[in-house]
Amino acid sequence: MAKPILIVGGGPAGLAAAHSLATFGQACLLVEKEDRLGGAPILEGYAKLVPSGEWAKDAIGGMVSRVEEAELVNVLTSTTVTSFTGETGNFTVELSNGDHVEVSASILCTGFTHFDSANKPEWGFGTYQDVVTTTQVEQMISSGNGVRCLSDGRKPKRVAILLCVGSRDRQIGREWCSKICCTVSANLAMEIREELPDCHVYIYYMDILTFGLLETKYYWRSQEEFKVKYIKARIAEVTARDGKLIVKGEDTLVKRPITIPFDLVVHAIGMDPNRDNGKISSLFGVDLEPNGFLDQASSYSSSGMTNRSGVFIAGAATGPETIDDSIAQGKAAAMAALEQRQVAARLVG
Ligand SMILES: Cc1cc2nc3c(=O)[nH]c(=O)nc-3n(C[C@H](O)[C@H](O)[C@H](O)COP(=O)(O)OP(=O)(O)OC[C@H]3O[C@@H](n4cnc5c(N)ncnc54)[C@H](O)[C@@H]3O)c2cc1C
Ligand code: SF4
Repeated sequence: MAKPILIVGGGPAGLAAAHSLATFGQACLLVEKEDRLGGAPILEGYAKLVPSGEWAKDAIGGMVSRVEEAELVNVLTSTTVTSFTGETGNFTVELSNGDHVEVSASILCTGFTHFDSANKPEWGFGTYQDVVTTTQVEQMISSGNGVRCLSDGRKPKRVAILLCVGSRDRQIGREWCSKICCTVSANLAMEIREELPDCHVYIYYMDILTFGLLETKYYWRSQEEFKVKYIKARIAEVTARDGKLIVKGEDTLVKRPITIPFDLVVHAIGMDPNRDNGKISSLFGVDLEPNGFLDQASSYSSSGMTNRSGVFIAGAATGPETIDDSIAQGKAAAMAALEQRQVAARLVG
């Protein structure tokens, strides 16, 4: 029987890769460092996903069950790879549980790390309890508790969502756009307005990138149907006065300073490279691109490949990606691994 293929990371990309390989009769070993599968949408407790509108626990939870039930997928949670040696078709993997496994290839689906808002101290996170992140608002909604001020549990009457926190910010070494946070924020703004119709929601933006078909469903709908207000601004700081949070900045359309009080301020945090990437890069012998994400071989003809033959990549490990694209890349990497095996078999035959 053909050796299994190692998949590292059990988020949307890794789950898609495992399902594809098993469907083609290829055994695989799925290694996940956390104690459960599902990646960021499950581990961070996302609420309704964009653009499907499905609850993360149902949509990604369904992908998890499918993989857990697949006979050809051996799932190891709370496990990491400690050594990876050999060459295409004949790799030896050492695991943190002490096991040694022979595999023919590996697909790295190790994802991203959420930006830590403490790296943007002037915007109040870590100083004021009612400055929170989009992941915290996702958790408030998915837990069924509703959106509340953390300081005293009151329903906010005014909410500001600040876009591009930890993205498109040269000052803190993060030039990339995190792709999905404009859409996620517009969606959260609508969810807040639905739950709390008396609450005013403002989105502070540099540019709005609700790309492709998402423009109508999120950007325009949030304004026209849900009365969310958009302010094009450069934010200077978030402070507090008389029990309110004060967002200070410059309205860049009218070029005037603006100071507006809020009850709750939400940071739309971006996607950082996985903090394990240095280790992953040296363990698997794959390059990092200049921002610290795992580097892909040149695109099109070598989609899903890295600089090391037999080691493939997919999903947000390669840079900010949506769930749909991470899933598509997981499937593409699975196909690339099978193609490589097919080519090797032909050469031997
Ligand atoms: C606030 C927020 C909301 C979002 N909402 C949406 C949305 O509604 N719709 C959408 O399309 N996208 C959304 N995204 C983006 C979405 O989170 C990513 O597209 C998706 O999680 C990427 O999937 P992935 O499998 O590549 O990576 P991840 O989800 O990050 O999964 C990677 C997995 O690998 C594991 N891992 C990491 N390192 C190792 C290691 N060394 N060894 C073993 N395992 C490891 C991790 O524990 C994790 O389980 C959102 C992002 C943010 C920040
Ligand atoms: S998707 Fe929007 S909020 Fe996210 S980094 Fe890009 S422009 Fe900023």
